[in-house]
Amino acid sequence: MRPMLAVAAAVPLVALTAPAPGAPPAPKPDRRWEERFLGLPRPDNVREAVRRLSARPHHVGSAYGRENAEWILARFREWSWDVAVDPTSGQKAEQLPTYNAYSTDGDVTGPLVYVNYGLPEDYDELDRLGVSVKGAVVLARYGHSWRGIKPKVAAEHGAVGCLIYSDPRDDGYFEDDVFPAGPMRPKDGVQRGSVMDFPSSNPGDPLTPGVGATKDAKRLARKDAPSMTRIPVQPISYGDAQPLLAALGGRGAPDGWRGALPVTYRVGPGPAKVHLKLAFNWDIKPVNDVVARIPGSEWPDEWVVRGNHHDAWVNGAEDPVSAMAAMLEEARALGVLLREGWRPKRTIVYCAWDGEEPMLLGSTEWAEAHAEELQQKAVAYLNTDSNSRGYLGMSGSHTLEHLVNEVAREVEDPEAKVPVWKRAEAHALADASSEEDRKAIRGRADLRIHALGSGSDYTAFIDHLGVASLNLGYDGEDEGGIYHSIYDDFYWYTHFSDTDFVYGPALAQTVGLAVLRLADAELLPFEFGGLADTVKRYTDELKKLLQKKQEEISERNREIDDGVYQATSDPRRPTLAPPREEVPPHLNFAPLENALVALQRSADRYGKARAAADARAIPPDVLSRVNALLIRSERVLLSPEGLPRRPWYRHLLYAPGTYAGYGAKTMPGAREAIELKRYSEADGEIARIARALQDEASLVDSAATQLEKP
Ligand SMILES: [Zn+2]
Repeated sequence: MRPMLAVAAAVPLVALTAPAPGAPPAPKPDRRWEERFLGLPRPDNVREAVRRLSARPHHVGSAYGRENAEWILARFREWSWDVAVDPTSGQKAEQLPTYNAYSTDGDVTGPLVYVNYGLPEDYDELDRLGVSVKGAVVLARYGHSWRGIKPKVAAEHGAVGCLIYSDPRDDGYFEDDVFPAGPMRPKDGVQRGSVMDFPSSNPGDPLTPGVGATKDAKRLARKDAPSMTRIPVQPISYGDAQPLLAALGGRGAPDGWRGALPVTYRVGPGPAKVHLKLAFNWDIKPVNDVVARIPGSEWPDEWVVRGNHHDAWVNGAEDPVSAMAAMLEEARALGVLLREGWRPKRTIVYCAWDGEEPMLLGSTEWAEAHAEELQQKAVAYLNTDSNSRGYLGMSGSHTLEHLVNEVAREVEDPEAKVPVWKRAEAHALADASSEEDRKAIRGRADLRIHALGSGSDYTAFIDHLGVASLNLGYDGEDEGGIYHSIYDDFYWYTHFSDTDFVYGPALAQTVGLAVLRLADAELLPFEFGGLADTVKRYTDELKKLLQKKQEEISERNREIDDGVYQATSDPRRPTLAPPREEVPPHLNFAPLENALVALQRSADRYGKARAAADARAIPPDVLSRVNALLIRSERVLLSPEGLPRRPWYRHLLYAPGTYAGYGAKTMPGAREAIELKRYSEADGEIARIARALQDEASLVDSAATQLEKP
């Protein structure tokens, strides 16, 4: 394999880093070290790491998981990092049979009901068909939401058990050939996965909410743990789901509910009855996080934290090893730089997390155990978790939006041979559905990054501690039906994914360059124009959401009053009218709009001050004061009381949705007050977000004032 040195030479670095109009100029890093770094990640190393780490099953608590942690530790040592194993306790269930982690034990029998994806709107549809799931075992298909929402909503509607299967319409032969002939899920493939109700309470060890699960930590009794499911849940294959579906009678399933199995989809209830008996191993096992660091030479108490998990459901060549191997290439390359004389100005901390799959155990418990220190010292957290071929996906804190765009302009796509930024922009344009969207993309200097929901190890950093975070990875070109199954292995990866291992080095270059910029920049590369612009967008979305709800509910109530539902119900297959609902009240967005104006003004002022300050050396005392403010800029967006009914989640701009799981809800307090019909909370939540944004505007103003001083 050719080293990537050629790439650095082929990319016209100067032209590509020229700031787009309106954006503040890039920080001035030491280009020598950056160029040396970019030339180091190599495909053959990534290939060997993926082969080694995925050679045997390495679920949390397994022998090979421990061996992998030790192997990773030895690599950091070999590459001149300071290392210490930092074990924290995590709970784990028995791994080898297919199972859903943090399902409760249970022995239940009931008639079977098919509930489509098992989301709240599916139960509204069942109500209209006159079908109840009280006392039933529901069969839901995977997809359209995070899996843990399915048993949660089923329990809320009185079901006693829940089966989840992968329908071939969504994940199987409908898409492409099945494994091993193709990349898709075969008949007996089962998606494992956690069903912990973390969106409503907290991720991490269910017995130690809010504190590190150290040896002596105070633990809840299992029955009192709020994140455990209420009913037993079991994942099954479509091979096993087919006879269950075929044994259902009752009403035909609505159009959108039908999958790709050769049966007539019906909803039941019954006549088939299901007996579901689940008993789990509730032993407490250690999890093995590997934490390695390079001390900073100038500001050792400012930390740039980088992480990826190393545990898998089974062999996990894609999830998580493909990205773990890229992180190891970064670590090796930084080790090379270290031996050639480079010292980072800030401390760099690399973390290989254990126990991510059961629900972010290693990262959450480490972050909780070191909460105070991290809140003081962490500059940013950079996460990856799986990598394949295609486009750079960028999510995270909008204070880092400009930084990640700058980095993407400098890394070359290993197959298309253009900057990965250019490809991401092309992808966004090709995907845009309207002229207006295309105009918005072309009219903005930076590509928008997505908000973080949950589903990987950044969760505790951003949502609980307010550490500005990024989640990065390449994908979008290959199909796959091996997620969380025994087929996610080296064979699958080397036949159907990044078979040349060239996107591994590309990911190492992307994240490593962001780490270098954060660790070595004199003035931290935070920027607030993108944040202000995004806050405006979220505010507009909230207003539109409210208006749409008002119109929809008014119209539906009118149709109920006018008898439209009775008149259109087929007397032979009757459907019931939906219930009348309260029309959402008007809300007061003024505080949010005023805060937005303040934030836009201070973001603009800071951008100008930073551009002017770049031209001269900033006095060291000013620099440290401004950097301290920049590090706090994400903390200010936290509320100490947390979100309503889930105080562990404290960020007022981003959270996983209570009924979306991994999916992000932005301005979650206000948005969910509208979506979940808690209208009396909405004005208070809007005001709370507005206060945090006013505080952010003041902080950004103070930073600008410091830089403007002659
Ligand atoms: Zn993963």
